[in-house]
Amino acid sequence: MSEPITRRDFLKAAGLAIGCLLATPKTVHALSEKEADPNDYIGMLYDATICVGCNACTNACRQWNKTTPELDAREVYDAPKELSADTWTLIQLYKENEEFSFVKRQCMHCVDPACVSGCPVQALQKGPNGAVTYDAERCIGCRYCMYTCPFHVPRFEWDQAQMPVVAKCTLCNDRLTQGIGGPACAERCPTGALVWGKRGDLIADAEGRIRAEPGRYVEHIYGKEDIGGTGVMYLSAVPFENLGLEDMGTDPAPKLSEDTANVLVPTVLVGGAIGLAAVRFASSRGAWEETWPV
Ligand code: SF4
Ligand code: SF4
Repeated sequence: MSEPITRRDFLKAAGLAIGCLLATPKTVHALSEKEADPNDYIGMLYDATICVGCNACTNACRQWNKTTPELDAREVYDAPKELSADTWTLIQLYKENEEFSFVKRQCMHCVDPACVSGCPVQALQKGPNGAVTYDAERCIGCRYCMYTCPFHVPRFEWDQAQMPVVAKCTLCNDRLTQGIGGPACAERCPTGALVWGKRGDLIADAEGRIRAEPGRYVEHIYGKEDIGGTGVMYLSAVPFENLGLEDMGTDPAPKLSEDTANVLVPTVLVGGAIGLAAVRFASSRGAWEETWPV
């Protein structure tokens, strides 16, 4: 027979559990290196006026990251309709009357990422090169990053019964850190619609393109300052809202996620810990009844 559990044991165990959870590192401001200059981060510039929708970039992403194609009804073409745990980037078509444009979707690698600030266990991190990466070993599956991301990028492996994780574009951080090259998608683009480099250089490139052909573009570089700046930036001939790139102001998104995470997540975790403790005690009810006077 197992050792009886006393009231003292219960209070000690519950206190320890809550203490551990409250000691979980609080959400941190995403800029781990305060002195980092966002213009030195690696980023990408997508010029929607040059993109021909060939999907060379999306194929390159699949090949490098070994993600599974999402086939069409005839099972002939890789034809994902949205980002998913298996599709980290895709080209979508915007069309209205005579106006149309392609638009590439992927993680924006925000300068001050809400997903990083919101994650209660720092599974998402902003690296010194600007890439926002994800550590599945740390992830507890709360999916709070999916809620905080203003671009709805992180996706969950809903079809995985065991240990599902979150997935998203990594900016090909493995290629960057191992000196293999730039992001696979940008390196494969045959038209120059997608280029990569230091964020500051990309901004100068984008400004030059607008200056050279002012009638061609909306006079705005999406991501230069939007939502605190992003690593992936856009040029377009049609209003950015039409491409699903909303005007969200220039303040970084993390403030809201930090405030919410610092209250909500510990509350949920502590509640869960107490619930688990209750379940555990219920399962040892025999010993409980012997020692807990009611
Ligand atoms: S786009 Fe979303 S997932 Fe990507 S860095 Fe920004 S907040 Fe994080
Ligand atoms: S940067 Fe890498 S992971 Fe991200 S969309 Fe491009 S190829 Fe895919």
